[in-house]
Amino acid sequence: RSKSKGRNQLSFYAENMQEAFLQQYEMTNRLKNALVSDEFHLVYQPVIDMKSAGLVGAEALLRWSYDSNDISPDIFIPIAEKSKTINEIGQWVLDNALKQLSVWHKIDNSMFMSINLSPIQLSDQSLIPFIKACLDKYKINPEKIKLELTETALLLDNEKNLSMIQSLKKLGCLIALDDFGTGYSSVTHLYSFPIDTVKIDKSLMPTFSKHPDTLKVTKGLVAMINSLNLDITVEGVETTYDLNFCQGLNINNIQGFYYDQPLEPDAFKDKYLIKSKFHYLFSRHK
Ligand code: C2E
Ligand code: MG
Ligand code: MG
Ligand code: MG
Repeated sequence: RSKSKGRNQLSFYAENMQEAFLQQYEMTNRLKNALVSDEFHLVYQPVIDMKSAGLVGAEALLRWSYDSNDISPDIFIPIAEKSKTINEIGQWVLDNALKQLSVWHKIDNSMFMSINLSPIQLSDQSLIPFIKACLDKYKINPEKIKLELTETALLLDNEKNLSMIQSLKKLGCLIALDDFGTGYSSVTHLYSFPIDTVKIDKSLMPTFSKHPDTLKVTKGLVAMINSLNLDITVEGVETTYDLNFCQGLNINNIQGFYYDQPLEPDAFKDKYLIKSKFHYLFSRHK
């Protein structure tokens, strides 16, 4: 009896694995087609200055409408990375985010655009010329581009990736280390790579952290990053409690649901660009 139950269980798992495999196989094929079929779009999350509480930039985040569902980038990016489709998708993201920035710069030319790069893209020889061509095409100052990398990118193929990141810096782009405080979080990464901004992961915010000592760790991390004179952005600011906690730290920018979820371009413009322009005109006439 228990034996047959065990066997059923086994076949249950096998079926699930097969299903998962088929799903992944299907998704890989659908992903390859998604660019042609125009199934991607970008949403933008505001990045807010800690002191003035005003807008300083936006992070472009990719969305894929698959069978009329929006599926999470946490699911499809890893699949795109395995099939190397990520290089083409990544270029689509760069082109579209920079096009959007060139439009928004007509309203506020001080804002920056953050774009996530997959570690796979760092071994793509066409990345640098592609970014260069986009900057020329949209007449964008490279200092207004912040390329976000996670530590995985720094760990893989260290030498080659270091020289690629140096080339991106030479272009004039800013580099952010994303999700710091999770995974490896090696201190040496903070000074062996030319990083401008460290983004503290949301798991280190009061609302997310389960462990009572996490906030001590966050404070220590911030002090350490301050001592290296790097910019700090905190992610995942969801509540007033998170915001108050951040106000007690020496950080530059914040991002999170407390302000906004990632927004469709029109909503972003209405809420953060039109308003700030009026605010600017108003304060100039005072
Ligand atoms: P990320 O770069 O760390 O982006 C931040 C993620 O946290 C976003 O999830 C954002 O919606 C979410 N978030 C922002 N504020 C809050 C908050 O207050 N609370 C909570 N719970 N979440 C918040 P999203 O858009 O689902 O993206 C997930 C990840 O997918 C990104 O993490 C990034 O690693 C990857 N990703 C997204 N777009 C791209 C892209 O164009 N290229 C690449 N390579 N990766 C991307
Ligand atoms: Mg990011
Ligand atoms: Mg992050
Ligand atoms: Mg992340």
